[in-house]
Amino acid sequence: MKIVVQKYGGTSVSDIKKIKKIALNIKKLKKTGVSIVLVVSAMAGETDRLIKLINSVSDVPNEREYDQIISTGEKISSSLLVMALNEINVNAISLDASKINLMTNNIHSKASIVSIGTKEIKKYLKKKFVVVVPGFQGINSNNDITTLGRGGSDLSAVAIAGILKADRCELLKDDVDGIYSADPRLYNKAKKINHISYQEMLEMSSLGSKVLQSKAVEMANQLNIKIYVKSTFNNSRKGTLVMKEDKIPIKDKKVVSGITHDLKQAKISIIGIKDTPGIASKIFKPISQSGIIVDMIVQNISTEGETDLTFTVPKEDLNKTFKILRENKSKLSYKKLIKDEKIALISIVGAGMKIHTGIATRMFTSLAKSKINISMISTSEIKISCVINQTSCKKAVSSLHKEFGLD
Ligand code: ASP
Ligand code: MG
Repeated sequence: MKIVVQKYGGTSVSDIKKIKKIALNIKKLKKTGVSIVLVVSAMAGETDRLIKLINSVSDVPNEREYDQIISTGEKISSSLLVMALNEINVNAISLDASKINLMTNNIHSKASIVSIGTKEIKKYLKKKFVVVVPGFQGINSNNDITTLGRGGSDLSAVAIAGILKADRCELLKDDVDGIYSADPRLYNKAKKINHISYQEMLEMSSLGSKVLQSKAVEMANQLNIKIYVKSTFNNSRKGTLVMKEDKIPIKDKKVVSGITHDLKQAKISIIGIKDTPGIASKIFKPISQSGIIVDMIVQNISTEGETDLTFTVPKEDLNKTFKILRENKSKLSYKKLIKDEKIALISIVGAGMKIHTGIATRMFTSLAKSKINISMISTSEIKISCVINQTSCKKAVSSLHKEFGLD
């Protein structure tokens, strides 16, 4: 049995016309004899709408109820797709997380997948049904609904493709038709990339590219599942293959493959903390235990036994992080907390950095020529990131894109 897993993102199912069009495409695909599992996101904007609704009631909402609400978007789109398929005489059924035992850990709104049952999916595939799984959701050991973090339907799709040993895992999008060297909505000279390695994609996803969820890329890498990102409705456009680095054709290898920007980070500074052993651990332990991802961390040189510490977290976690720091104030004994939401994180990503030198200097020089001030820097083997002022974001992307020959 040849199995194809396709994931349709929010923009692909944003209205009924598109859902009906997808149903027709599925009918054609089914005629080729493959077994089809579809993973569906919520209709575009729906999850944001639900989060807004929640935030109008609470700044730090009850986590269990939060997931109860934000998981509903995917239930609607997946059942609508099943109905559209039924209308054109295609047998289909939606199987939600409790039906397929998609078990996760207990971290609400950012849960990780622990296991997935295959019995129910296989039962329906054998009966020649198209199986539609609402993405983004799981259940914890309490049988409560959890969600997999923003963009989590990608993770659902990769995990399901993995557990079913699917022959193909395709992520279909209506707003972009692949992975680009920069966000084409911000910079119109960005180019589509044919092949990209898991490591580069992972960096790009963690650094602001919203095309693929980073946890999904990580899982695809672990399970060695090729992800094919392509357009939902335009079959003539070739997409991007995310795959192992050593299998990428030489002509597609670059020193810097992409420039990412992230406007969804915020900077927190803790002023006047005691510079004693264990203080960093005391600060970051409760934050990480809440599943909040801290990215850059900079500690100043201490004077008179006191120091300042600055770090970045996703904007959506800013209030939660502040709350945690305030709750721990007596233990941490700092003087002041400062937040800055008007930042942009600009990064260059490329596997070629492992063997080429002078890349960081070129990045800093290029930003300097554009009169852009850098406030934080961090590097890894294949990326360099800088925090800059939000207003300089577009200028930074275009000068770096040019500098590294990607225009
Ligand atoms: N609907 C969720 C979100 O907007 C999950 C997804 O689309 O993958 O983040
Ligand atoms: Mg998405």
